Amino acid sequence: MPLYPFNVSRVGEGMTFENQYLKDVFKNLKEKNANEPEFLQAVKEVFESLEPVIDKRPELQKAGIIERIVEPERIIMFRISWMDDSGKVQVNRGYRVQFNSAIGPYKGGIRFHPSVNLSILKFLGFEQIFKNSLTTLPIGGGKGGSDFDPKGKSDNEIMRFCQSFMTELFKYIGPDTDVPAGDIGVGSREIGFMFGQYKRLQNEHNGVLSGKAIHSGGSLVRTEATGYGLCYFTNEMLKEAGQSFKDKTVVISGSGNVATYACEKATQFGARVVAVSDSDGYIYDESGIDYRIIKEIKEVKRGRIQTYVNYSKSAKYTRGCSGIWTIPCDIALPCATQNEINKESAEILVKNKVMAVAEGANMPCTPDAIAIFQNSKVLFGPAKAANAGGVATSALEMCQNSTRISWSFEEVDQRLRDIMINIYNQVSEAAKKYNMDGNLVAGANIAGFEKVANAMLWQGVSY
Ligand code: NDP
Repeated sequence: MPLYPFNVSRVGEGMTFENQYLKDVFKNLKEKNANEPEFLQAVKEVFESLEPVIDKRPELQKAGIIERIVEPERIIMFRISWMDDSGKVQVNRGYRVQFNSAIGPYKGGIRFHPSVNLSILKFLGFEQIFKNSLTTLPIGGGKGGSDFDPKGKSDNEIMRFCQSFMTELFKYIGPDTDVPAGDIGVGSREIGFMFGQYKRLQNEHNGVLSGKAIHSGGSLVRTEATGYGLCYFTNEMLKEAGQSFKDKTVVISGSGNVATYACEKATQFGARVVAVSDSDGYIYDESGIDYRIIKEIKEVKRGRIQTYVNYSKSAKYTRGCSGIWTIPCDIALPCATQNEINKESAEILVKNKVMAVAEGANMPCTPDAIAIFQNSKVLFGPAKAANAGGVATSALEMCQNSTRISWSFEEVDQRLRDIMINIYNQVSEAAKKYNMDGNLVAGANIAGFEKVANAMLWQGVSY
């Protein structure tokens, strides 16, 4: 799949918002960040939704809220040098984008993937501001990572890299300042190595990272939270339309953390998941994908999804991942990466009568694809609402760390479920309030934005 499935130089052309203030801010932003297409794409989508709010609330323009909210409070970029198993010195680039702390300490994952650059982290950090706001918990927005590729590295190499990464990052984070978590390429193993190094350097055992193992201050359900939360959200969306997961056919892209637990929860809700993928290809199994096999392949063996065919006779493997969207389904849950459903894939999904699409990954659908779903009356759950369960449970981990209490699996799961229902209601209500009933993209942007904007207004300009 090309890295940019759209024409980079044209991001922002054909702005669909008329408000002059938003247009001016976007023009200026585009000039300043011309080589950051993902970031501009994410901002544009939010601006399109905010037009009625800006029209109705002139005090936001007066206080320069929009200019301020698109500029990260701080960006840290640093060198990470580490030694591979052959004794060769390797150098990667590390980042932390501390985007907005109006409603709480910066919070957002760390991504290790060769495609990581400032544009991607700024897009993710920007999205995170509104997502975190929707959770109703006191957390600001941030994101970080490195262009390091964990694939094919030994455990010792991963450890040395994580330690070197944290040796610089620890100066800028803390349980009341910035609390990173995992993301693509950063799971429990990486969080453990980074936490160990932070503790050594800071001489404190605190809640500086979320996604920790249970014995080291982690929360039950954090591993499952994004995938489970995605299904809780989708379930609400289906319910309002008089539908449910029961007996529906589901296609899920990816086979990482989000995809695996979305597969588990969708199956528990009575759906039949027929396909999953990784960046090499996808598995189709008409008799239903068994999430326990995915766990075995990905979590225990750290293998490729192709090997699923060794466990199930009815499973078929196809090389290349975008073909997964040609499989007819009632519900599509993209859970791999950004821009994985483009216009063509969306058209095929609609032709095959998809009824609901909910984003488990961040920005997996291109703007064209979203427009196709919305125009075809497909229920559409945007990432900042639908995948907020992970960060919400991270915030629950922070609560448990601060009070030094651990909640049971059932208690955290119940809180997660309540949060996702609450997010759905907020988003749906905000869309109705601004006469965009059913437009959950606009509802999520507006509901997430207003809380942060109000906090920024209240705190004054000079910070
Ligand atoms: P993982 O690293 O656990 O899994 C990512 C999966 O996506 C892997 O199966 C990977 O395959 C696949 N993938 C990556 N790139 C592509 C591609 N270009 N085409 C097809 N498949 C691809 O990450 P997560 O599951 O944690 O994250 C997935 C998405 O969800 C990301 O967008 C992340 O930002 C978002 N997210 C994650 C949260 C969390 O709690 N983990 C919270 C909220 C959002 P391969 O192994 O071949 O690379």
